[in-house]
Amino acid sequence: MQLKKEIKTIMLKDPFQQFKEAQRVNEIRYCPLTGRSSRVLGLTLKEFAYTDRTAMIEESARACPFCPGLIDALTPKFTPPLKEQYTYGNARCFPNAFPYDENNAVVTITTEHYVPINGFTHQMLLEAFECALLFLSDVDSKKYPYQSINWNYMPVAGSSLVHPHLQIIASSTPSNYYSDILSNLNNNPNLFMDYLTTEKNLNERVIANPGDSTWVVAYAPMGQFDIIGILHESMPLHTCSGKLDSVLTYIRTTLQFLYSKKIDNFNMSFYSIAHNTSFLPHIRICPRVTFPPYATSEINYLQMLHNDSFTLLKPEVIAEEFSVFAREQL
Ligand SMILES: [Zn+2]
Repeated sequence: MQLKKEIKTIMLKDPFQQFKEAQRVNEIRYCPLTGRSSRVLGLTLKEFAYTDRTAMIEESARACPFCPGLIDALTPKFTPPLKEQYTYGNARCFPNAFPYDENNAVVTITTEHYVPINGFTHQMLLEAFECALLFLSDVDSKKYPYQSINWNYMPVAGSSLVHPHLQIIASSTPSNYYSDILSNLNNNPNLFMDYLTTEKNLNERVIANPGDSTWVVAYAPMGQFDIIGILHESMPLHTCSGKLDSVLTYIRTTLQFLYSKKIDNFNMSFYSIAHNTSFLPHIRICPRVTFPPYATSEINYLQMLHNDSFTLLKPEVIAEEFSVFAREQL
C-alpha cells in the first residue's frame, strides 16, 4: 500500500522575520482506512496549556445523576428482552436517556464522580468494557451489526457529565466513518492488514505490538493526533469478553500519555461490524484541546463544513514521544 500525501508550499513575507520571504510547507494526507484528508500544517505547537477545572468538577458533583445517591432514581431501564440494567463490578449499564440510535447505552465506569485522565486503573476499564459487552451480547447482532464503544471524556470532548462513562451503540445503519471504510474494503478486502504491513515496514508511526493488536499514530489524524489500535483478529465486539487485556493496557497508556502532555479531554471510539470478516475491530483515541488565550475551539470551518481535519503536530514526532513515554511506563 502506498500512503498518499500532497505537499503544498506557501510563500509569504513574514512579519515575524522583518517581512523576509518565508516558506510554509503543508501536507495534505489521506487516511489509508477512510480515504479522508487531513492537513498537517507546517507550524509547531510547543505545548498545551494546563486548565484548572476544579470548580467545574466540584459544582458538577452536587446533583450528579451517575453518582451512587441518585443513579437508581435517575437512570432509565431497558425493556425486554434486555435486562433492565447490567452491572459488572462497579460499572453499570443502562439506556441513554437521550439516544442517538436504536440501541444506545451508557456505562458508568466507576462509582467515583471524577477520575483524572491518569487515574483510570486497569480494573476500572476492565469492568466498564465487560459491562458494555454484556449489553452488546444481548442485542441482535444480525439486525444491529454496527457496534461501537465510545467515550467522550470531559466537557471539551462533548461530555455533558463529568462522571466518567462510555456510550455504546449497536446500530442497523453505518455512520459515515463505517461507510467510508466499507467502500474502501470493496476495492481491497485486505485493507487493514495492508495498512498494518505498510506501517510496520515504514516503522515511522508504530508505537506498540502486543501480539493480538498493533498500535500506531495515525498517518492522517482526525484530531491534533490520533492513536489507532487495530486487532489482528476479526471479532465483533459482542464476542470480545475476556480478550481485551492488551487493548485496555494501551488505552490506559494512551491516557497517561495525554496527561503527560497536559491534555485532559479526549474522544475514543472502538469500532466493529458483526458478520463482516474483512472489517478489523479498531480503536481511535483523539485528544480534544482548546487554544489559548480564549479557549478557542479546534473545530473550525475546516472540520465543521469541509470535513477536513488539521493538526499542528507531526504524527511522526508524536510517535517518537509516545514510544519513549511507553518504554518508561511499561
Ligand atoms: Zn457523579
